[in-house]
Amino acid sequence: MNYDCIIIGGGAAGLAAAAYLSIYSIQVLLIERLDRVGKKILSTGNGRCNFSNREMSAENYGNKHEFIKKLFKTTSPSEVLDFLASLGLMFREESGRLYPRTMAASSVLDVFRNALQKDNIHTMLQEKTVLITNKNGLWQVKTESKHEYIAKYLIVCTGGKAAPKMGTDGSAFNMIENLGHCITPIVPALVQLRCNSSILPSLRGLRIHAKVSLLVNKRYVNSEVGELLFTDYGLSGICVMQLSGNAADALRKKAAVSLQIDMLPEIPDSHMISWFKDRLNSNSTNTVLSVFTGVFPRMLSQAILHEAAIPCTKIAAALTPLEVDALLNQIKRYSLQVTGTQGFDSAQVSRGGVSLDEIDPYTMESRLHPGLFFAGEDVDIDGPCGGYNLHFAFASGLTAAKSIVLNQHSEEV
Ligand SMILES: Cc1cc2nc3c(=O)[nH]c(=O)nc-3n(C[C@H](O)[C@H](O)[C@H](O)COP(=O)(O)OP(=O)(O)OC[C@H]3O[C@@H](n4cnc5c(N)ncnc54)[C@H](O)[C@@H]3O)c2cc1C
Repeated sequence: MNYDCIIIGGGAAGLAAAAYLSIYSIQVLLIERLDRVGKKILSTGNGRCNFSNREMSAENYGNKHEFIKKLFKTTSPSEVLDFLASLGLMFREESGRLYPRTMAASSVLDVFRNALQKDNIHTMLQEKTVLITNKNGLWQVKTESKHEYIAKYLIVCTGGKAAPKMGTDGSAFNMIENLGHCITPIVPALVQLRCNSSILPSLRGLRIHAKVSLLVNKRYVNSEVGELLFTDYGLSGICVMQLSGNAADALRKKAAVSLQIDMLPEIPDSHMISWFKDRLNSNSTNTVLSVFTGVFPRMLSQAILHEAAIPCTKIAAALTPLEVDALLNQIKRYSLQVTGTQGFDSAQVSRGGVSLDEIDPYTMESRLHPGLFFAGEDVDIDGPCGGYNLHFAFASGLTAAKSIVLNQHSEEV
């Protein structure tokens, strides 16, 4: 059977596109390699699905903001939310992050599944697409089980390389490259970082509020403030995950990557000496360990003193100026060398994908092949934690679908 449009990949972007097209008399085939659609959606936001953010703006997408700005002209953030609401989804907001009212990711998937119950939407499960070709202006899609499907329009939204157990092992990028498209290097992002440091074994499992800065070849790149989690292999926590895409990119280029931790970001550098002297004075006859009581968990205080080569039993008043300097340095600028990431298996997204130069941001159509569209993580866009990746998947999927409806209608007139 021939279709008007084939969508490859039943993830967030593919479902949004299919749900939009379901409203129109466009024959759609949605092809998904797994035994169900939207498997990844179910594990997003710890099973609660943080699908967007009240603070949604193009600037959140870093150096890709110009592309997003144009995309948002076609499909504004509020249009994405209105569309989800039109499918029946009610929202709940927590610190700007948007979740389904039920706080269950299954609700997001269920509204999409409802929307696909239309005669014009056909879903093929357990069909892995292996080849895409174009003959005489029509897209031919071949699957591993030797089926062949043909359509005028094709939306490729097979996801990136993160979380391969959820169907996204990046194998689809070969098909896209075979069409002549350029794929920028793919690295894990929103992922934990592996670090080299003697402090780690003793702090495993400890969570602190910290400011973490990323340095590449000793140059400051960016920093994040938030929860930091020490693990046996390195560091985790939202602030580390936010820095991980840039770190992974730099590691790929064989640069020297390090993290600098400010364990007391509430106290600015300029106040640190007087703050510390006050604490020394009020604890002068106690051990130096007690200076940090009420500031850090005990095991962190011990680790800081150990790194500064100061015995925990030393009397506070006996600290030398050099020892004070060493301590303040450990607290405000503790440095760890980054040796790698926890890889695609642990990453929430991948960075890299179809080059933005080859996609029209107003339509998500390929600049190389008319009738071919890309959406979601296939595209060289990734956002921070907070609902920005799902929002991009939905916005780009809707934009591709809208362009197809417009093209189809203008041909019919
Ligand atoms: C654990 C986890 C938590 C996350 N939490 C959040 C969050 O709270 N908020 C947020 O914004 N983002 C979150 N993300 C990221 C977000 O889920 C993704 O960015 C988003 O799902 C990307 O949508 P997509 O449609 O591009 O790809 P996906 O949702 O990955 O879907 C791609 C689909 O294509 C299918 N496919 C792949 N290749 C083929 C092929 N050859 N043939 C047929 N089908 C194929 C796959 O099986 C898959 O179903 C999280 C990710 C993970 C892994």
